[in-house]
Amino acid sequence: MQQYELLWQYQQVDMELDQYEKEMRASSNRRELLKHREFLLEQQNVLKKIEADVEIMSDRMEALADEITRLNGSVAEATANFEANRPQDLEEAKKQIASIQKLLGTISRYEAELAKLRKDAEARDRQQREVRVRAAKARAEFDRIKVIYDEEFKEASVKLEALKKKVAAEARGIDPQLLEKYKGIKRHAAMPITRLREDRCGGCNMQLSAADKDKVRSGQPYVECENCGRIILVK
Ligand SMILES: [Zn+2]
Repeated sequence: MQQYELLWQYQQVDMELDQYEKEMRASSNRRELLKHREFLLEQQNVLKKIEADVEIMSDRMEALADEITRLNGSVAEATANFEANRPQDLEEAKKQIASIQKLLGTISRYEAELAKLRKDAEARDRQQREVRVRAAKARAEFDRIKVIYDEEFKEASVKLEALKKKVAAEARGIDPQLLEKYKGIKRHAAMPITRLREDRCGGCNMQLSAADKDKVRSGQPYVECENCGRIILVK
């Protein structure tokens, strides 16, 4: 019985420690920090996406500019050839003019595409600047809160360490195997050790089985809940 009463006391400080850790995690400054960090990561991803887009666009614009230069060369060549060797008949003249016009048509299509890409690239530039401004603001806010939170965390850590020491001190004198069992139950049920309430488990409120009731009647100091696995102290 002594062991289980010690474990009961251990649980009190263990719960106090858990509660304190929960409070630390729930700190509004901590939540704000996480929120800003998440936002910053999001903005970084947006920037990466824009940069990738811009790279593809730049490659395409370069290719278009090269192609336009090449086609302009072809037009100049064809025009010079037309001037130098005047076609003998109308059909031949028409054919050559049509071929030059086809080249010019392609050039203006490419130029239109290039102009559109330039406009898109400018829009991406603006977007990038906006994202950077937003990210910088979030960063500044993050840094401001971080200073406050670090101080808060430092203070909280002192209390946390003290609580951990208290828990370790309470663990002394408890059979390590029993403590392991406690930790095992705690993985699936909060407050692993409970008390008998009427003839029910104080943890899950399940009525004891007939066999367990017999154990209690025979004076056994504890039973284990068949439903939740908790250790139920009889007294
Ligand atoms: Zn139970």
